[in-house]
Amino acid sequence: MDSSSPPDPAGDEGVQKMDGGINALYSFLVAKAPCRAFLVSQTPPTLPALRVYRFGEALTVLFPTGCLKGREGSGEQQVSVLIGSCRYENNLHCPRLSLLKGFSTLTLSVKQLSRLLRFSDLLPSSLPSPCPTVAASQVPALFREPYILSGYRPVQQDWRCYLLSLFQRHNETLNVWTHLLAAPALLLLWWANVGALGYTLDAASLPLALFMVSSLTYLCLSVAAHLLQSHSERAHYYFFFLDYVGVAVYQYGCSLSHYFYSSEPAWRDSIGMMFLPGAAFFGWLSCAGCCFAKARYRRPYPLQRKICQLIPTSLAYALDISPIAHRLLTIPWSQETSLPFHALQIASFILSAFFFSCPVPERFFPGRCDFVGQGHQVFHLFLSLCTVFQLEALFLDYARRRDAVRDVFGERQLWWACVSFPCLFMCCVLTALIAMRHMSKILQHVSHQTRLKSSTSLSLKANGSSYSTCGI
Ligand SMILES: [Zn+2]
Repeated sequence: MDSSSPPDPAGDEGVQKMDGGINALYSFLVAKAPCRAFLVSQTPPTLPALRVYRFGEALTVLFPTGCLKGREGSGEQQVSVLIGSCRYENNLHCPRLSLLKGFSTLTLSVKQLSRLLRFSDLLPSSLPSPCPTVAASQVPALFREPYILSGYRPVQQDWRCYLLSLFQRHNETLNVWTHLLAAPALLLLWWANVGALGYTLDAASLPLALFMVSSLTYLCLSVAAHLLQSHSERAHYYFFFLDYVGVAVYQYGCSLSHYFYSSEPAWRDSIGMMFLPGAAFFGWLSCAGCCFAKARYRRPYPLQRKICQLIPTSLAYALDISPIAHRLLTIPWSQETSLPFHALQIASFILSAFFFSCPVPERFFPGRCDFVGQGHQVFHLFLSLCTVFQLEALFLDYARRRDAVRDVFGERQLWWACVSFPCLFMCCVLTALIAMRHMSKILQHVSHQTRLKSSTSLSLKANGSSYSTCGI
């Protein structure tokens, strides 16, 4: 596009199809401040899908390539245009505000009313709008998921855009909400049980509190990862490394509670004191393995990546669940009320592991599960269910054994075990930071190489043009 001359709306085929109101609005916008934005932009808005929403004084005009927000005031209007990743702002002295008022009424149809109910449109116009989602081909390969063809959020937007995308329809929305809703569900279950049991925080009840802390940690870190990872490659690695910290911490939180509330004397005699150090080591190893696999392998991911992730995680899970498996195999389920819940937590975990490992059902319906029905969403659902069943089972075990816990294990062992929890957390955070430092160096190197290549090709072009000028 030639930046020295304004675009000619009448020359655009899409404009010819518009009614007078929209056409006049477009002419108005081009004539006023946003024309500079249109000129600068390499992708000028195309008009056929233009919509106008109005809430009080706030006016939002949506284009397929961006959105324009305005606020009707006393003769002065602030207009900001967002096209792709570029944002342009200007203050307008606008004597024709009545024109804008008219268009919002003209362009609202019954079909569009349903779209008005979207929460993101109700937000104040001073906040950046979540950007329209794009196809897989429009985001870097790192962000593309197999068989998910659309619904990606563009990279390099304002952080607030990703926060507000919580209320937007994109291919991570359900990944965020499945874990975001699990957190209050767990808290409700916690308060209900605490009220019923008369829970007090002491050495005997601390492992249960740490299980709750570990569950909320992994849920919050997972929400942050899925909500914010699209910002940049750096953010993607950073938040997913933290997500792996959450998984390791959760595994160790489970181990503590399983050991102190759910293990049988016969099982403790066989594994005994090795269980908690082993659980801490495998918890850290699963975090380190996942970070290594994420940093080492690039898309399309080879099988080795899954192996690096799944083997340490499976070993950690096998050890963490061993007291429960032993109990389920040696005690009749009808004898203890917690055992059916423990069976349910294992069944939920196995199902979640299946959906984590296999991109099912999107593998069989490429492009049909872009928003709803991805295997990762089902994985989140089953993992959340697993945690809910676990908490219920642990409360039942705790209620039954809380008076004996101190006598069986001794107060010192309880305190030491609980001190190891923040130590493991710190080790995992340190591992994630080391992995992030490594990735930062790689990303810096890659961007340096890209800049070098582009400057080389530019200088070659410049030399080519000077040669041709000389030739003339
Ligand atoms: Zn996830």
